[in-house]
Amino acid sequence: MARISIDLNSGTITKPQAVIGIDLGTTNSLIASINESDRLPYCITQDEASIVPSALYFDNQDIIVGHAAIAQMVNQPENTIYSVKRLMGKSYDDLQNLNHNLNYTIVDTEDQLVKVQIGGKQYSPIELSAHILRKLKTVAEDKLDNSVKKVVITVPAYFNDSQRQATRDAGKLAGMDVLRIINEPTAASLAYGIGLKGEEGKTVAVYDLGGGTFDISILYIQNGIFEVLATNGDTYLGGDDFDKAIMALWIEEHSLDNLSSSENQLLRLTAEEGKKHLSHHDNYTKTIALNGVEVNLSLNVEQLNDAIKPLIDKTIVSCKSAISDAEIEVNAIQEVILVGGSTRTSLVKNSVATYFSQAHINDELNPDEVVAMGAAIEADILAGNRKDMLLLDVTPLSLGIETLGGLMDVLIPRNNKIPTKLQKEYTTSVDGQVNLAVNVYQGEREMVADNRKLGEFVLSGIPAMPAGLPKVEMTFMLNADGILQVSAEEKRSGVKQEVQMKPQYGLSDMQIKQMLEASIVNAQEDMDRRGIAEATTEGEQLIYATHKFVKENEDLLNDENKLVINQLIEKIKDAISVKNKDSIVSTTEDLNSYSRQFAEKVMDKQISKALQGKKI
Ligand code: ADP
Ligand code: MG
Repeated sequence: MARISIDLNSGTITKPQAVIGIDLGTTNSLIASINESDRLPYCITQDEASIVPSALYFDNQDIIVGHAAIAQMVNQPENTIYSVKRLMGKSYDDLQNLNHNLNYTIVDTEDQLVKVQIGGKQYSPIELSAHILRKLKTVAEDKLDNSVKKVVITVPAYFNDSQRQATRDAGKLAGMDVLRIINEPTAASLAYGIGLKGEEGKTVAVYDLGGGTFDISILYIQNGIFEVLATNGDTYLGGDDFDKAIMALWIEEHSLDNLSSSENQLLRLTAEEGKKHLSHHDNYTKTIALNGVEVNLSLNVEQLNDAIKPLIDKTIVSCKSAISDAEIEVNAIQEVILVGGSTRTSLVKNSVATYFSQAHINDELNPDEVVAMGAAIEADILAGNRKDMLLLDVTPLSLGIETLGGLMDVLIPRNNKIPTKLQKEYTTSVDGQVNLAVNVYQGEREMVADNRKLGEFVLSGIPAMPAGLPKVEMTFMLNADGILQVSAEEKRSGVKQEVQMKPQYGLSDMQIKQMLEASIVNAQEDMDRRGIAEATTEGEQLIYATHKFVKENEDLLNDENKLVINQLIEKIKDAISVKNKDSIVSTTEDLNSYSRQFAEKVMDKQISKALQGKKI
């Protein structure tokens, strides 16, 4: 039963907001919703088709998106834009290194990000993607007779932070409220119901062969947590290459040299039609006009298979690399999920099933639609309609701050679920300290020097107080998008400072893996270094407090006392200088017990206070 809400101000009955998931693809995009009666996802169609080609045609002032744009590709290739997703979050230089061959012109701009030149105007990839999203929004709003606002959008697992941010910005520009950006393989798994229940851990391979890209992702899914073990693929391998291989066959067979740009497009579209036809039939024939003559084109399954076999073999090589990066054996894969229109080609399906011979192959759902459907399920979870579901993401590396002695003090441990908020109290190490430098790090090593610095700020304006007296409450808040907000507040005075940072910015899965490995390899050495650093801090604090004590209580001490104290202090300093933890601890203890007799006399609180709590 649909839920109905009433607008209390106007007294009118309003429809519940539609639950929406979007697959913003390189070649095709789709929009999905959830059926209110059974909470199953479905793709929204226009004229029977759920796919909206991610293509734009610029007709003077008008921008036409989808099938109508594809139709213009033959006659006006220069005004037709496609594969915008490849440009998302990229600089001109990023793209110079890739051997892309786009039909349109890309330009360098002041703000570092690439733009597309069409006629006299320049468009950012974000604007172009926003046009595609607006088209999807219109299709869905017409069909649902409801407004589309809150959405979940998918991106490839390997997308970095700026690519994710660009996708999010495109959604905003299209008038959407992007609840979350999720990984395409995660969405595909959700569509098959994998990870929806608190079941045993499962190792899953998501094989996604689209139009222009191939992605293989190895996931470990447990308790609603989707961990990406490895990703691999080829950003320039997909169904388009199958089409090109077919074209090459025909061009040779019929000596079709010197085709015009639009004839070339026509031949390409015919090759694609033939390829799709052969996913369900054995032969394909078509007659088209090229070079002013009628040409009879034909293709059978054997010819197709011979032409595309080397391409499919390349995808299997990528699968092997991903399996090896994940440090598992291929037979550890329990489920394989087929995603992307090109997995309909029989040879693709068979090759995957042969390589992953032990796994169950999930291919019952429409491979074009699974990602969008999974995104809709995620949106449904976020909308609170599936209360039994866990929220999904975890932070891959610990987050913390530097404490005295260059130590890493963790606030949010690795693998903690996000969103999350954690607080801890700190204090100062020097009397009258009015500024407190906060250095934020990410990583698993004991010493901050071995971790990754995310940012720093200074909490200034703390009223002068003896060391150890200020109470600085540090709050780490990591939101669902991985943005970390760090705030420090001195509780006695209310002085406060806040900054935001992005822990995952510019950090690849590979780097995360390396950081984790380094922490395991260096664990023993790190523990020893931490031990020395902690003992040193304690020794130095005691020296500091003792000097202060001596200065303030001259009358209590005779010359001999002062001499002994100085000697004991020198011993601690020597032990610190040779970094011998045991002797730092014992010399510190020696000074401590010798000075206790005086301390007891005056009950100087500062010594004991100065030894309490962690100091920054
Ligand atoms: P993307 O994720 O890159 O946007 P899709 O998953 O939509 O791409 O896949 C598009 C590709 O799938 C195109 O190359 C298209 O030709 C191919 N494709 C679609 N249907 C079939 C089919 N029936 N048989 C073979 N290939 C197909
Ligand atoms: Mg796709």
